[in-house]
Amino acid sequence: MAWYPRAVKMELQPESSTQQAIRPTQVIYHSIAAPWTPKRTYEYWRDSTNLESHFGLGFDGTLWQYLGTQTRADANYRANRRADGTGAISLESASNLDHTDPWTDEQVEELIKLGVWAHKTHPDIPLRICRSASDPGFGYHRLHSDWALGGTDCPGDARVKQFRELVFPAIVARATGAPEPTKPTTPSVPPTPRRRRRPVAYRLTGA
Ligand SMILES: [Zn+2]
Repeated sequence: MAWYPRAVKMELQPESSTQQAIRPTQVIYHSIAAPWTPKRTYEYWRDSTNLESHFGLGFDGTLWQYLGTQTRADANYRANRRADGTGAISLESASNLDHTDPWTDEQVEELIKLGVWAHKTHPDIPLRICRSASDPGFGYHRLHSDWALGGTDCPGDARVKQFRELVFPAIVARATGAPEPTKPTTPSVPPTPRRRRRPVAYRLTGA
């Protein structure tokens, strides 16, 4: 069982004892469509539904781990555990009720660190975005339809953009020692068009 040292360990039972082992080959990021702390998320899975993830991430970067990464978690439909014993490590992150908001800077930082740790801890998780539902690598919930029963928009457009432009490139950079991507910036004011010089009025001299 692998427990991430940066996360608060809060083992979810009976899932942790009863669910099958997996060999992790993927990391899948989610938004939970609720502005919850990892504690509230833990209580939700303990008391209500059984669609848990391994990790819960609050807006402030607080991270809890509920299951060891070699235990099946049930948030990813067919990626939870395949017939060959491979499966996905999953993370739920706090969001607004419609999961339309971007990850906070604190969340982005923890997503990157967790991704690097997962890659280094589990040799079967390569540094690429999953090309198919069973392809090893990194992804977000809506990336492949086999990961969500009935379909989902999770984690929302803003976070998909962050994943592709910021989170995943930074995981690759840190894991390989390459320079990190800088946060994409958009100019707040469009550049002012150059003022056209007035045509000089030539006096017709009649010459
Ligand atoms: Zn999801």
